[in-house]
Amino acid sequence: MKKFQSNVPESKTLAEKWTEYRSNMPLVAPNNKRNIEVIVVGTGLAGASAAATLGELGYKVKAFCFHDSPRRAHSIAAQGGINAAKNYQNDGDSVYRLFYDTVKGGDYRSREANVHRLAEVSRNIIDQCVAQGVPFAREYGGNLANRSFGGVQVSRTFYARGQTGQQLLIGAYSALSRQISLGNVKMYNRHEMLDLVVIDNKARGIIARNLLTGKLERFGAHAVVLGTGGYGNVFYLSTNAMGSNVTASWVAHKRGAYFANPCFCQIHPTCIPVSGDYQSKLTLMSESLRNDGRVWVPKHKKDVEALRTGKMKPTDLAEEDRDYYLERIYPAFGNLVPRDVASRAAKYRCDDGHGVGATGLSVYLDFASAVIRYGKSEAISQGISNPSEEEIKQLGRAVVEKKYGNLFEMYEKITGEDPYYTPMRIYPAIHYTMGGIWVDYNLETSIPGLFATGECNFSDHGANRLGASALMQGLADGYFVLPYTIGVFLSKEIRTPMTDTSAPEFEAVENDVKNKIKKLLSINGTRSVESFHRELGVDIMWEYCGMARNAEGLKLGRQKVRALRDRFWKEVYIPHTDKDGHEFNPELEKALRVADFFELAELMMVDALDRNESCGGHFRDEYATPEGEAKRNDQDYAYVSAWEYNGLDADPILHKEELTFNDIELKTRSYK
Ligand SMILES: Cc1cc2nc3c(=O)[nH]c(=O)nc-3n(C[C@H](O)[C@H](O)[C@H](O)COP(=O)(O)OP(=O)(O)OC[C@H]3O[C@@H](n4cnc5c(N)ncnc54)[C@H](O)[C@@H]3O)c2cc1C
Repeated sequence: MKKFQSNVPESKTLAEKWTEYRSNMPLVAPNNKRNIEVIVVGTGLAGASAAATLGELGYKVKAFCFHDSPRRAHSIAAQGGINAAKNYQNDGDSVYRLFYDTVKGGDYRSREANVHRLAEVSRNIIDQCVAQGVPFAREYGGNLANRSFGGVQVSRTFYARGQTGQQLLIGAYSALSRQISLGNVKMYNRHEMLDLVVIDNKARGIIARNLLTGKLERFGAHAVVLGTGGYGNVFYLSTNAMGSNVTASWVAHKRGAYFANPCFCQIHPTCIPVSGDYQSKLTLMSESLRNDGRVWVPKHKKDVEALRTGKMKPTDLAEEDRDYYLERIYPAFGNLVPRDVASRAAKYRCDDGHGVGATGLSVYLDFASAVIRYGKSEAISQGISNPSEEEIKQLGRAVVEKKYGNLFEMYEKITGEDPYYTPMRIYPAIHYTMGGIWVDYNLETSIPGLFATGECNFSDHGANRLGASALMQGLADGYFVLPYTIGVFLSKEIRTPMTDTSAPEFEAVENDVKNKIKKLLSINGTRSVESFHRELGVDIMWEYCGMARNAEGLKLGRQKVRALRDRFWKEVYIPHTDKDGHEFNPELEKALRVADFFELAELMMVDALDRNESCGGHFRDEYATPEGEAKRNDQDYAYVSAWEYNGLDADPILHKEELTFNDIELKTRSYK
């Protein structure tokens, strides 16, 4: 029997729920923990923190990643920062305000109780990471520094230059390594989970492919935790690491885990624009840049033309001829509006013919006024009277360099333009997925004993993620939530013996994987995996299920996904020497992932079509205000769409988790 209850504790006020629940939940005694095995798939921030903490608690943990080292997880790419309601700035932050901003930012499509818990434990995360030695930026007096991110009016984002994810991952990896060295965690690098084994309706193991030998291996446990990241790469071009994929979540879905809100994808407004057909990756310019960078396009089309053809430089354009459109339309938040709002605004300017760059698909992110502002302030603090304009610029540039230097370098390396002298060009790109495996308050999926953490679960961000909240959620799940909540399940398993991987259920699932690999390798077609992935992502997903969607396009998109999927299974070519795939074969790895992307893509179209409203990152053309803002429909769509798999060619079954808001009033989201 599948479970589909949010299991939010009934008792007490919202602010007391987690504390009270945590104090009363069943515990597993230390002597029993030694006899309980847990599989953790994924060693990004969510998985590594979970595996390390479970190991520290005394469970026997097996951790898996497909990388050569846990330190290569996509989390390492995170640039801008991690949120926490510490109120170090004394600017009015609080747990409630972080909770409020997150629910509002997510366009009221997340579960109140989960978000409140996230805001509560956010404070512990910073303490834990500081204790691990994470080198967060500090103020002159030694306190941790903070900056702002989109959608909020306080400074609550902790950062380590533009490498916050890397530094946090090193912290989590150190904690994990300690447990590996103590023998509490056994690490399986270069192992890819390809299926989930469910016995008597409980998750009891996985089938993984050893990526170096190509052999399939069986692993059993009392419970399985997924921390396998997001599925933005279904769009092919995205800011995600090339290896990020949906396979682990998707196979769990096919074995009975509901998949929630798959159409909720985040488009990030500040990415380096697409430059050609031979690109497979888009590079993010951290949102933190919008603290100081001002976004603009030329007011007049004649200037657009001159800029596109190189007859004029952006620095030549007078202030009065520039449209700082975010500051103009959203004066309360200005350049720090949330990502969905900023992305749509950039799209509208480009659709109207005001976009710059050779393709017309970019807007400027300009630091000139920040350089002058910081330069003047530096001159005063250094006691320089009557500084020249050049001196001011130099002083200001040094401040900007200190704050964002590595991001500026990255931009220059990729585009060949120096952003200190000419504004950056940016355009929205696929970045993050708010949808994912459905989980209850315990982070347990609809398969008992299967848990999901971090970006691979759907929880906490609703229809739009505010910046710096993904790292917060991944670490909250791994360090401070799952280690408690998994005990609710495991406390009933203390008499369950170690899982026997020779059980027929393991045999059956392994055979399914074997057959899928054999089938793929036997096609021997003419087209590369990559070409199918590109067509799926760029020509279908971005076109019909991207920044704006409509019913007609989604119906057509679904047909196109199916047609291309059929061709994939007839025409794909995977070089190989062993017919069973018993060899190192990165093309086979990709093919298995792309095969799953096809199936997910169809579900995304179905989900987007079901949701007859616009909210957060899900924008349906038909549901917009006259000003082009998202028009939500709380009456009919204040629910989580939890989809049940129903076979490849059948329609999935929709289960609705109604969202009730007792502590927050549902309002039209306005950043004006
Ligand atoms: C460029 C960029 C910048 C970002 N900046 C920020 C930021 O500043 N602040 C912020 O809050 N968020 C940021 N984010 C989002 C954030 O980085 C991610 O949401 C977060 O790191 C995801 O962590 P995770 O642990 O859930 O997954 P990941 O870090 O993606 O880890 C997934 C893990 O699962 C493993 N895995 C996956 N599938 C399998 C399988 N089938 N078998 C075995 N192992 C598997 C991988 O090997 C890996 O170890 C950024 C994202 C991008 C793309």
